[in-house]
Amino acid sequence: MTNYRHLVDELSCRHTLCDADMRKLISNADDGDVSYLMEKAREAAVEVYGRDIYIRGLIEISNYCRNNCYYCGIRRGNDRAERYRLTAREIMECIECGYQLGFRTFVLQGGEDAALTDDFLTDVISSAKARYGDCAITLSLGERTYESYRKLYDAGADRYLLRHETADRGHYRKLHPDGMSYDKRIECLLHLKGIGYQTGCGMMIESPYQTVDNIIKDIRLIERLKPHMVGLGPFIPHKDTSFAGYRAGSAALTLRIMSVIRIMMPDVLLPSTTALETIVGDAHKTGIMAGCNVIMPNLSPVHAKKKYMLYNNKAVSGSEDALELSVLKKNIQSIGYNIVTGRGDCKRPDLKGILPDV
Ligand code: SAH
Repeated sequence: MTNYRHLVDELSCRHTLCDADMRKLISNADDGDVSYLMEKAREAAVEVYGRDIYIRGLIEISNYCRNNCYYCGIRRGNDRAERYRLTAREIMECIECGYQLGFRTFVLQGGEDAALTDDFLTDVISSAKARYGDCAITLSLGERTYESYRKLYDAGADRYLLRHETADRGHYRKLHPDGMSYDKRIECLLHLKGIGYQTGCGMMIESPYQTVDNIIKDIRLIERLKPHMVGLGPFIPHKDTSFAGYRAGSAALTLRIMSVIRIMMPDVLLPSTTALETIVGDAHKTGIMAGCNVIMPNLSPVHAKKKYMLYNNKAVSGSEDALELSVLKKNIQSIGYNIVTGRGDCKRPDLKGILPDV
């Protein structure tokens, strides 16, 4: 029987571990070690955020995408995807509805859709901010130019989520077709941070060809980038993609990595993601028990929710449905946490730019 509690203690103390120890913790920890890891992750989160859980209203604004990422259900090459794009008015209606429910952060997510021009987005962002001045706007719209990110920031966007997907160039190549590159992705992340966005990166767990060494590289990138948010979820296959036949990632490994990240960066915003909920289905209780402090229920109109299918069986009802917020609140209370109304900013907003050598 292994006992790696001392590694968990070292991680809590130093906020990092060498590669060999990180590998042991990720690959070989036994059940006892993992429950200790999660306990320490919860302690770290509680110390910074108390028992508050932040909520974001997710609005999936378009599933058109110019990219062809092999894992993603809304990739350009999937001609079975039914495409849609919300109008500015529909987006504002979602925000209005979410505001009434108590949401104070809205995440506008979508494929890389050419119709989402700077003009369209700056109009939406500035109207939302003018009307709901106490709200934060998060964007998750993929790779754009520096100038575009700047304009959207100047229009009032506060945060940007752009998962790096994998920090290993070789692995990046296996997940994306030519024309997309790891370096471009990192450049975007550096631009976002440099502009002043609260920035999020992240990766899928057990995406095809991912190795433990790849995950360690991801962890090293996260250490150096010092993002304000980290999005982690299991890879889940989508039936109409190149990776249809691959296995889904496990909840066990996803939760372990979540806990490691929480202990490394106690003040990071760490969502318990829809992909995790899709495979676990317990209203995010397990994610919170692993140190997560953010949940992103879906505020998209029903027709959009069904069409924004990144992977098979994406959870859209119950705890994922923003309209069911009262049910989610009860579930979260049952484990001693509270959903709070507020922007829910990172408690370390002043993180400065980063390291040249990513
Ligand atoms: N176009 C935006 C938003 C992409 S969708 C962007 O490029 O950032 C948001 C995230 O969903 C992606 O970053 C990816 O990590 C995740 N995702 C996509 N397909 C997935 C799949 N099959 N399984 C699990 N997560 C997936």
